[in-house]
Amino acid sequence: MFIYLPEIKSKLGEAVEYCFQKDLDEYYNDFSEGGTLDLMVSATYTEDKVLVSGSFEASFSVPCSRCLEAFTQQVKGKFTEVFTVVRGSSEDYTQENLVDQAANMLTVPGDYLYLEEYIRQQIILVQEFRPLCKEECKGICAGCGADLNQSSCQCSTDDELIDVRLLKLKEYSSGS
Ligand SMILES: [Zn+2]
Ligand SMILES: [Zn+2]
Repeated sequence: MFIYLPEIKSKLGEAVEYCFQKDLDEYYNDFSEGGTLDLMVSATYTEDKVLVSGSFEASFSVPCSRCLEAFTQQVKGKFTEVFTVVRGSSEDYTQENLVDQAANMLTVPGDYLYLEEYIRQQIILVQEFRPLCKEECKGICAGCGADLNQSSCQCSTDDELIDVRLLKLKEYSSGS
């Protein structure tokens, strides 16, 4: 997932469109459950800067924050960023360094602007903090661990617990 700078440099000031559509695990190690990424990028070279803007849609498997069942979450987002082209040649750097520089320092030494890490951060930014498999997910029972979407359990009758407490209260008030 990279932009080859000499290509956009040759069209100085003109936006060049890129499209990346792949399975997430072709770019990232931590999406082993699968998932897809659909990324549109428009890049413009001006002087020593690269203006990059675009949008993405991704879908991937995450565990529900209530019941822990995996489900497919879909996210989308937009971004605009200016990367500064710095002196250097790509041969002086490993690909990991180039990926890291682009994402965290927004600089590009050499001819390749790698977007993997930058886009990963964009995906994280739009992710749900507490994803839910469905709005009305009942979660799992704190008592026995049963998935309450699948079945109810013996200990889910909260009434009994309350009754016990009420009984205790009665004992106190009558025992004085
Ligand atoms: Zn759930
Ligand atoms: Zn239970």
